Amino acid sequence: MKAIIYARVSTNDQDTTRQINDLKRYATVNNLNVVEVFQDKISGFKKGFNERDSWNDMFQYIESNNITNILVSELSRITRRQIDLLVFVQECSAKGICIHTQKESIRTLNEDGSENSNASMLISIISSMAQEESKSLSYRIISGRRNAILNGRGFSTKVYAYEADENGKPKIIEEQAIVVKRIFNLACDGIGAPSIVNLLNEPLQDKHWKKGRVSSILLNTFYYGKMLYNDEYYDVPAIITKELYDKAQEFRKSRSRFSSKRQHTNPFSSIIHCVCGSTMNQRVVQFNNTYNCNAKCGIKGINRPFLIEEVRVIGEANAKLAQEDSVRTRMSDSLTIEKANLSTLESSLRKVRGKKDRNYELYLDGEVTKALYARFNTRYELEIDSLSNNIAQSSKSIRSLKIELSNEIVHYSLDLDIFKKQLLNKLEYIIVHRDFVEVKFRNWFKQIVMIYRGQELIKYNKLMSKTRKN
Ligand SMILES: [Zn+2]
Repeated sequence: MKAIIYARVSTNDQDTTRQINDLKRYATVNNLNVVEVFQDKISGFKKGFNERDSWNDMFQYIESNNITNILVSELSRITRRQIDLLVFVQECSAKGICIHTQKESIRTLNEDGSENSNASMLISIISSMAQEESKSLSYRIISGRRNAILNGRGFSTKVYAYEADENGKPKIIEEQAIVVKRIFNLACDGIGAPSIVNLLNEPLQDKHWKKGRVSSILLNTFYYGKMLYNDEYYDVPAIITKELYDKAQEFRKSRSRFSSKRQHTNPFSSIIHCVCGSTMNQRVVQFNNTYNCNAKCGIKGINRPFLIEEVRVIGEANAKLAQEDSVRTRMSDSLTIEKANLSTLESSLRKVRGKKDRNYELYLDGEVTKALYARFNTRYELEIDSLSNNIAQSSKSIRSLKIELSNEIVHYSLDLDIFKKQLLNKLEYIIVHRDFVEVKFRNWFKQIVMIYRGQELIKYNKLMSKTRKN
């Protein structure tokens, strides 16, 4: 249904914006389509509607456009003179025009167009009070709150990582802000809410983080500085950037697209090999949770939870060692050596590329034969391949040494998604033999894990579940 808004303020220094915004919201809620807005700046006690600039325009517009609804924020916007108001309402009702007042929640006509008798009574009571400049508390409180928000105050809702300061403005709680940043960063690493929950709860006794809570944090625009209130955004202190927020939303969407087919994370994909050289695949079905050789060379499968647990134990032992001074010294020495090594490799690569280009130029100039050019070209390409490979290896070593030295990971997560992320750049390879497994973390000695099967495995599992609980 078509509607128009009429807004009036008494003096020039008052603004009708607030009335109009409130009424547009009212219209949306009540399925009304606002087609025009009329406003006046004139006292509500002035006699005669004809003195108002917009009033006549409004009635012409109503008649020529078949408007059946007029929206005003309160009755006193029409007039503060009781008699004038009652007459006006009567005239409108006769023409089938319904007046809506937001503050008093009055509509003068029923849905079917008949007169609303309750409204008539209310209007006569209210208008008699309005004449005495009656003030509406409720309206002023609601609008007051919206104004307070615009001024950066009026923060009363509970938002994690924020508290109200002495002026009622939202203030960041720094230690919780760190958690918020961590949640968004994890989401941007492609880790889903359930895994984030596991990670947050791991060090906690009461496990108070729940999936819904993490999801609602990831969806709250408050954290990049925009508070949503009544469909409008207000500026608040930000904890993260808009870019990080948007990136997290993309990952959330891409994850939910695939989440219907739940997959078991393979923390060792492309890292685990059989001693025969073939890759190993994980198999996760009831009563069979194993890694098996893809080539079916005859090596028995290895229990998957057992292997994951052993690798986790090795990783944690390494992380603990990495904190010891002697080990740290060795690592920073390795880092220095590795950096020097990398720059040598890079300069060699530049040289070989230069030679390759020169060889090509000589050939184009007719200085060398095609056969000679091809022979050298092949040799240079092989050198470039080998150097690029070494550079990649060296970069990985440097990266993992830096991670190790920064002590980022001291505890390897029980959540496989996170575990896999933690192993990235750190776990170099796993080779499964008949009775043992070689586990190699980058920058660490190769470790041998004896494979448990049958009764031994059952004993092992009992022991592990006990230690994990403690
Ligand atoms: Zn094999």
